[in-house]
Amino acid sequence: SEMRHARVKRTKTVCTYCAVGCSFEVWTRDRHILKIEPSHGPANGISTCIKGKFAWGHINAEDRLTKPLLRDGDTFREIAWDEALDIIEKKFKQVKQDHGPDALAFIASSKCTNEESYLMQKLARAVVGTNNVDNCARYCQNPATMGLQRTVGYGGDSGSIADIEKAGLVLIVGANPAENHPVLATRIKRSHKYRGQRLIVADLRKHEMAERADIFFRPKPATDAVWMNGVARYILDHKLHKPEFIDQWVNHFDAYAKSLEPYTLEYVERITGISQDTLITVANEIAAADGVCILFAMGVTQHCGGSDTATSLSNLLLLTGNYMRPGAGAYPLRGHNNVQGASDLGSMPNVFSGYQKVDDEAVRAKFAADWGVTLPTTTGKDNHQMIDAILVGSLKVLYIKGEDTITSDSNANYVASALSKLEFFVVQDINFSETCRYADLVLPAAASLEKDGTFTSTERRIQRIYKVFDPLGDSKADWEIIQLIANRLGAKWSYKHPSEIMDEVARLTPLLAGVNYERLEGFKSLQWPVAADGKDSPLLFTEKFPFPDGKARFFPVEYLESCEESSDVYDLHLNNGRLLEHFEQGSMTYRTPGIKEITPNSFIEVSPELAAERGITSGRYVQIASQHGKVRVQVLVSSRVQGKQLYMTLNSVTEPVNKTTSSFTDRQTHTPAFKETAVSMTVLPEQ
Ligand code: SF4
Repeated sequence: SEMRHARVKRTKTVCTYCAVGCSFEVWTRDRHILKIEPSHGPANGISTCIKGKFAWGHINAEDRLTKPLLRDGDTFREIAWDEALDIIEKKFKQVKQDHGPDALAFIASSKCTNEESYLMQKLARAVVGTNNVDNCARYCQNPATMGLQRTVGYGGDSGSIADIEKAGLVLIVGANPAENHPVLATRIKRSHKYRGQRLIVADLRKHEMAERADIFFRPKPATDAVWMNGVARYILDHKLHKPEFIDQWVNHFDAYAKSLEPYTLEYVERITGISQDTLITVANEIAAADGVCILFAMGVTQHCGGSDTATSLSNLLLLTGNYMRPGAGAYPLRGHNNVQGASDLGSMPNVFSGYQKVDDEAVRAKFAADWGVTLPTTTGKDNHQMIDAILVGSLKVLYIKGEDTITSDSNANYVASALSKLEFFVVQDINFSETCRYADLVLPAAASLEKDGTFTSTERRIQRIYKVFDPLGDSKADWEIIQLIANRLGAKWSYKHPSEIMDEVARLTPLLAGVNYERLEGFKSLQWPVAADGKDSPLLFTEKFPFPDGKARFFPVEYLESCEESSDVYDLHLNNGRLLEHFEQGSMTYRTPGIKEITPNSFIEVSPELAAERGITSGRYVQIASQHGKVRVQVLVSSRVQGKQLYMTLNSVTEPVNKTTSSFTDRQTHTPAFKETAVSMTVLPEQ
């Protein structure tokens, strides 16, 4: 047994699922994962949720991709790396020559490391010569970032996860942390239960945190900006705001105050369905609290007015002086383990790493000089625009890594019609995803336990992952694959380790100036902005806001109606979200047999009143149809939803909810309005 013990290896890593960023040691023997041991995690201490603890089946799954696959009619055949790279070189070069660099586009992954996101945008910009590069924050968090950048300058959580415990009041809007950010939710549950922290939840659905809340209310879909503006007006009318804070720290107060005029209690009640009493209580609670944290997620962002709602939320925090102290501020709860980092590192069509704009000449000159190239000057296409561009024929080549676009983008049928039109489509992943079915070439990537790198969690915390195993079969780390492709296209990159990539990032990115692997060793971590001397920022705003005069800005927003309203045919409203046991569509979590057994299928929650009206009971299958497509799903009658509200869980690869969602998007960022779908429900014959 001593010998056996000697073969047990303990390696520090970071969870590959959600953006709470739990870190722990993974105990392994050969390729077997023996256990996950959390002990020192800065975000999680000794906690994990079911996913971090058990959902590692994807690493050694039988269907892991181990060799490049080339399309051969309707099937694929295995080829060697050299042949795969030959094909990429030939196709990329040919399309660039015939149609220009903007005929190619790149989608990075929120599951990959920071270093890999940086290299993906460098490949697009420096090697191919296009700014057509994006990542899946476009599907979720860009409106949050927009709302915060407009008002306080940085798109990130205002403080640490631990700081949330210090808030007098936690307000959760359009987020379900008990299932989506479980370890973070535990902190709130504890503070609420034992330390008298107040909890208010605004949501369409009475999820676990709503059940625990002191006040829970259900605004009508897509009206959050209205009640926030209404609450703000009430606070202002009753002089409950913080004039000293505003005088010192916030511009544009008069314009904001004027913009609130239409939001009388009567008007707000009519639009949102929230009673005036509730609005007044909420306003008084916010004004009286010793520190307010607003936690929000997809229920805010995935709407046509997502950016504006995020903006009004931040305005409300400014009005009440709830920035610049621990236990106060905005917490956009990021979804994927590295969705924060994918954007931070510049996999976006308009910015380099650290949100440095591509149309800023000085910035461009800096990158051009360091990289030794000339850089494209105009903003590229985001991943929503890429799909449209494929359909009109101007985009010919797409290279996606670690993103199952077909199930995660909205309006799956529309996306499918685009992907099948591509002249050349490369998908890089660890498993053969639904999107791989549309590919010409599939590249096998290494999983998180098979490489070195860093992830950035929702609290802007940069943490190291360490290589536990060699990549399975012929799979390779994404950064190595990108480097191989870049060099085939004429670059002369010679990164031997991700630490060298991070050194380059730090050199070129003021936001991350002091980041290096020495400072991130083991369980050490840094929260950006990180100054050159290594001083990091657990609290995002301390001495100033990142605007030229150091002040934040009120940014007035107007309420605009939902894009997709119910009709006679599509008379129900479909909402959607994750299930605790699964991550998104479950492409990784379904590969752990125990998890698959306990939660094999997605389901749709139907309110008791609607179920009675339609004569449906739990377990029955229904067809949910929208103007855009349909899915077949099993019913769970539940009082978590009310009236004509439906809620479908995301965990299905074959019947993804996105077959029904539309191509409507947030007006500012093109994030799909996943949460604004009008549908019909037909009961299917019993089987
Ligand atoms: Fe992983 Fe998130 Fe669960 Fe932590 S809370 S173990 S980061 S999925």
